[in-house]
Amino acid sequence: MAILRFQALKESITNKSIIFEEREKRSELYGTNVFNERTMRQYLTRDAFNGVKSAIEDGRKINRAIADQVASSMKDWALSKGVTHYTHWFQPLTGATAEKHDAFFETLEGGDAIEKFGGNQLVQQEPDASSFPSGGIRNTFEARGYTAWDPTSPAFIYETTLCIPTIFVAYTGEALDYKTPLLRALHAVDDAATAVCKYFDKNVKKVTSSLGWEQEYFLIDKNLAFSRPDIALTGRTLLGHSPAKGQQLDDHYFGSIPNRALNFMRDLENQCMLLGIPVKTRHNEVAPNQFELAPIHEEANLAVDHNALLMDVMGRVASRHNFKVLLHEKPFANINGSGKHNNWSLSTNTGVNLLAPGKTPMSSLQFLTFFINTIKAVYENEELLRASIASASNEHRLGANEAPPAIISVFIGEQLTKVLQELESVTKGKLSPQEKTDLKLNVVGKIPDVLLDNTDRNRTSPFAFTGNKFEFRAVGSMANCGNPMTVLNTIVAKQLKEFKIEVDDLVDKKGFKKDEAIFNVLREYIKDSKDILFEGNGYGEAWEKEAKKRGLSNNKTTPEALKVKVSKSTIALFKEMEVMSKVEVEARYEVELEAYVNHIQIESRVLGDIARNHIVPTAVKYQNILIENVKGLKEIFDKHYKTLAKEQLNLIEAISSHIEGINSNVTKMIDERKKANVIDEISLKAKAYCNNVKPIFDDIRYHCDKLELLVDDELWPLAKYRELLFVR
Ligand code: ADP
Ligand code: MG
Repeated sequence: MAILRFQALKESITNKSIIFEEREKRSELYGTNVFNERTMRQYLTRDAFNGVKSAIEDGRKINRAIADQVASSMKDWALSKGVTHYTHWFQPLTGATAEKHDAFFETLEGGDAIEKFGGNQLVQQEPDASSFPSGGIRNTFEARGYTAWDPTSPAFIYETTLCIPTIFVAYTGEALDYKTPLLRALHAVDDAATAVCKYFDKNVKKVTSSLGWEQEYFLIDKNLAFSRPDIALTGRTLLGHSPAKGQQLDDHYFGSIPNRALNFMRDLENQCMLLGIPVKTRHNEVAPNQFELAPIHEEANLAVDHNALLMDVMGRVASRHNFKVLLHEKPFANINGSGKHNNWSLSTNTGVNLLAPGKTPMSSLQFLTFFINTIKAVYENEELLRASIASASNEHRLGANEAPPAIISVFIGEQLTKVLQELESVTKGKLSPQEKTDLKLNVVGKIPDVLLDNTDRNRTSPFAFTGNKFEFRAVGSMANCGNPMTVLNTIVAKQLKEFKIEVDDLVDKKGFKKDEAIFNVLREYIKDSKDILFEGNGYGEAWEKEAKKRGLSNNKTTPEALKVKVSKSTIALFKEMEVMSKVEVEARYEVELEAYVNHIQIESRVLGDIARNHIVPTAVKYQNILIENVKGLKEIFDKHYKTLAKEQLNLIEAISSHIEGINSNVTKMIDERKKANVIDEISLKAKAYCNNVKPIFDDIRYHCDKLELLVDDELWPLAKYRELLFVR
């Protein structure tokens, strides 16, 4: 193994950077491999084009004749680009993307063959659903599921395959993927927000949710990565002593991007251009070898697809550059982890960003409406929002004093805080006409300037307002954004729906003028949801105490955090907003708990294996060398040897005690695993893994990491942190 490590190191050092040259302007490459509007105009008949357009814009069904036309044109376009296969591309609850390639190729009678792709194949497919997680939705008799075309996300060509974005549902209709509930949530928020927008502008017909994600990741030399079973099998290091130099010098953040990484990025961005993923920003992150990539925001469904696709493409491009991409939230202990900020906003078909400040009092009121309703939605559903980002891997960041804490709070900046305070204190009861005017002048009138210099960014806040959007920062780097985006859009939809009922009530039953009614309801909302606002340091113990007083949840572990997913109110919420049925909600809960158990179980096995089969034998080998040395000293110096071999004797003892520490803890961990494995009830099993198995990781690691410092470097079998993080 040590040989493997040195071989990997040698290769990593001599790895010549693959120079990636860009030959075309990015704007010219953009979307070349996408069956987008431009391509559709070129390939589709007018009828087919209009059919697809109205499906995208108004959610109309596409009839079979049009589907046939679209399929045939897609095939012609794909064949002209050297494509041989097609696949329904979907996002099952494993978190990865799934595809099963079929060739266009079909045989004909008489020995001939043709390329064929009809509406049937475009619209619906039946993959073998039984091997994807379903949370018990499909029993053995109904193990079938199908994928169905999502025309709102354009088909694309990746390598030599035409990929058709699809939803994935059980035969009985329940969603088995991330996309289906997301599409329903986006529909719900469109309905609710459009209705509210009509208070301000009758011409608004549609509200779209936008998402701009920022993907953080680590790049590690491929050979070194594969010399470590933990990275290869779990995506993170389960042991490894901190390097002498970590991120304490802050010399990586926004520093110059190393050449080898830059070449990877250019290649990746080039692929993104072809696939229509509008990547724009790249930079070094805080930790060594950590980077970030961000696109221009897009409609949320498309953005979620693009992020899922990107994570897949990243792995493939990295491999070409002899890198391994680590998307795990915490690949290295004591080094910053990775997240995926989800920038979110709502905008109208008339081109208005509803979370951007307006220029007139009326548009400012519209801004405040969406701003305050979002805050209220987060307040009412903070625990559910926390649950939407819970996973075994994200658990290492949340609640572990790393951006951000497990407590959900909203940061809005000093000036907006003042605006809300003023708005709140305008009057206790109903607004008089005079007060209304004051309010407009004093509060609403100020908003346009306020937001221009709202540059304050509190990095410890999990949900921050950043000028013209909210930024949900607690999302995990490995996560599919579909889950948090479904929750966020659903809770905002529900909140806006309630808001409209309350405002209409004041207008219809109490004779309020419309904007007066809006003011009144908003003011009450500010009072109600004040407890979610927090501008201070989210990492501090003081905040934990304060948050507890305010009644905010602080669910540090995943099994704890997930519970609210099946609470009565959650089930009622998803049902009311027609996003998920009770069966779907419960199934997802089960799938996530199962995933949690599986992750910890795999990590536990890998750690036990490395500790016993790699670390202990290495330590014994080194101990034997020391013993030989001591024996030699005794032979030469006789009685005198004890003074001369003092350090060696200490080392021999220390090694023995660490070996004992490893072995006894591995045994303990295996025992706990055995106990956990016989628990049938999945939430209890997850709890057992979380509370009884996982904590032992740290004890095993402690002894392994101590041995790393004691044992001869030449013998050490695993690539060390300094090698993983600094070798280029
Ligand atoms: P930063 O936060 O890094 O300073 P920006 O504020 O420009 O940079 O944007 C960060 C991210 O926010 C980008 O990925 C961008 O696409 C996204 N973003 C900007 N405006 C919106 C919006 N209206 N809706 C959703 N995402 C947005
Ligand atoms: Mg950001």
